[in-house]
Formats: sequence, C-alpha cells, structure tokens
Amino acid sequence: MSTKRRKVIAGNWKMNMTPSEAKELVKNIYAEVKGTKHCDVVVCVPAIDIPAVAQAVRGTCVKLGAQNVHFAEKGAYTGEISANMLKDCGVEYVIVGHSERRQYFGETDETVNKRAKAALDAGLTAIICVGEQLWERECGITAEIVSRQTKLALYDVPAEQLAKVIIAYEPVWAIGTGKTATDEQADEVCGIIRQVIADKYGKDAAKKIVIQYGGSMNAKNAAGLLSMANIDGGLIGGASLKPADFAVIVKAAQ
Ligand code: PEP
Repeated sequence: MSTKRRKVIAGNWKMNMTPSEAKELVKNIYAEVKGTKHCDVVVCVPAIDIPAVAQAVRGTCVKLGAQNVHFAEKGAYTGEISANMLKDCGVEYVIVGHSERRQYFGETDETVNKRAKAALDAGLTAIICVGEQLWERECGITAEIVSRQTKLALYDVPAEQLAKVIIAYEPVWAIGTGKTATDEQADEVCGIIRQVIADKYGKDAAKKIVIQYGGSMNAKNAAGLLSMANIDGGLIGGASLKPADFAVIVKAAQ
C-alpha cells in the first residue's frame, strides 16, 4: 500500500528552552535546514516560546507547532490554551495525546479525541500520538492497543479533515530511553495504523495519510526508519534540540 507521501519531520522540544533560548535554537536549526524542499520541517515548542519562534520562522521553511491544545473554544479553563489562540499566533501544527501527557497529565483516549477535533476544526494539523507500553508489547497486544487508540482518537472525525491528521506511532518504551524500535517493528505498527485508516476511511485515505515514527529517533538510526514503506516522517524529542543532528534526520527524509 505504498505511495509517494510527503514526509514530515517534527521536533518536540518538550519543556526545554526559555523564549530567548528558543529563538537562538530555531535560528540554528534554520541555518542547518535552510532550503529544504523534500519534506516539511516543524518545531513543536513550549507555549510560552510560540511568539518568539513564530517571529523567527516567518518566511522560512520551518513551520511552527505547539505541544498541546485545549478542546474548548474559550471559557473558564484556567491555564489552558485554545486552538484559535494557537492559530492566531501562527501555529500550524499541534501534538495531541503525547504519551507524557497521557502518563503525567491524565490524558485519556476521550480527551485526545476532543483535542484533536478542536485542533482540526480550527484548521490546525493534529499530530496524534499513539503507542504501546512495554508490558503491552510483551503481552502481544501492541496491534490491539494502537488500533484502539487510533480509532478512538479519530471518533467522529470526518474524512474531509483527514488531510490535516498525522498519526505519530510512538512506542512508550522507546521515548527518551535510547531504545529505538527496529525498522521492521516500527514499519509493522505503522502498517497496522494504516490498515485502521483503510477500514474506517477507505484505501485511498490510507494511502495518503502521514504516519510518523517517534521514539529515540536520531542522526544514526533515522535513515533506516525513514526508508520503510509505512513510515512518513518522525516525531523527534531529544535530537530535535541539537541542530546538526536534527538536520541529519531532515536530510535522511529525502
Ligand atoms: C517524543 O518526545 O515524542 C520523542 C520521541 O522523544 P525522544 O526522541 O527523545 O525519544
């Protein structure tokens, strides 16, 4: 079921970089990836860094992403940020349901779905994260877990919005651990996700949807992972804070 899909390489800076550090980092990243045409390059930055980074990436090939979004349009949700607020600051992408949010901040499949829908309704591209924990893989239920998360995240999401959906397959055991899934393991699960999309939206939609791999992707292993038929890019944590390494990953997407 392979076809030419545009790869998306997205950095997830997590809770790193003050606004002034963020400005510096994104300038250094841009210096390394300047002129990139073969894939989309995105940096998903802490909310407070958004204005500084938005200004720094204006007119460049680097696109701006956020790390979370609230599902309500507005109202009494102290400390939260809406999709329209992100949009107004020049944000184009937003990560939804990252495993750290599921693990530490009570994110559930239901709230992931609500956040994804709010992002899509505002015209943002939602990078929806799914992935099994180590014990779930060891129990042999990876396909079940990842299929369930994908289906629930896309509940009530119409086919017309699928062009703005990216699924990031991120095995929890591989995030920030230095343990990467093998090329084959990652490709197999991305293929399972693609099949879920085919079952729900049809083969054509499945051929078009961008499915990233994330979990200790780095300058050394990126080329192998990105050469697999079902892997259309990466969501990168640690290595996205190192401009030269991030640039190697961007090049590997060619
Ligand atoms: C992530 O934060 O989504 C991630 C994949 O982190 P790392 O690359 O550091 O494992």
